[in-house]
Amino acid sequence: MKEYLKVGEYIPDEHGAFDVIKREFYGKGYIFKDEETFYNHYAEPCYVPELFDMEYTREDIVCLCHGNEFLAEICFDMLNGQIPEVWIRERFANGEWARCPTCDYWYSRHTPPEPCGECEGPLDYEAGRKMNYPSEETVAQVRAQYPTGARVELVRMDEPYTKLRPSDRGRVMFVDDIATVHISWDRGSTMGAAYGVDEIKIVEEDA
Ligand SMILES: [Zn+2]
Repeated sequence: MKEYLKVGEYIPDEHGAFDVIKREFYGKGYIFKDEETFYNHYAEPCYVPELFDMEYTREDIVCLCHGNEFLAEICFDMLNGQIPEVWIRERFANGEWARCPTCDYWYSRHTPPEPCGECEGPLDYEAGRKMNYPSEETVAQVRAQYPTGARVELVRMDEPYTKLRPSDRGRVMFVDDIATVHISWDRGSTMGAAYGVDEIKIVEEDA
């Protein structure tokens, strides 16, 4: 029987609006993290980062890892305060993770099938790690364009694993250091819109 790690507590509200998150100190910061939920209840919140009340389910983390369950497990295991989106970008920045240039499948350097196990194309970690990072100026522009609380609508999300659909609406929570706009979607997800990849637009408040 596996001992599951549990940090803090999450008490869901029946109506989903007033979930109670109790954080505890773990690793680097105060977080909520529940391994039992991650491994057994894929659609329930298993992680809340330190600074923001964003609830991540296993499905969310798998989605952020491009559908790769193995990478999602590494990611969940390592999270100790950070926002998962930012942690994942760091893996690409330091060359630990890469993507197949042919089929876009994601890999960890520690489990490199050579060539790509998906499409049998050549893997190139140097090429795969080149992600476009926005400048500080761009981050400031995006923050000005999408202030906290603004109402937004999804135009396009370049992510085959998300359940979000064009014209879904939500509210801006904040913009992180790599210009990802974090959004609390009406549908219940907190999937961020990645700069230069996904497209959202500001809309009027609902009548
Ligand atoms: Zn491939």
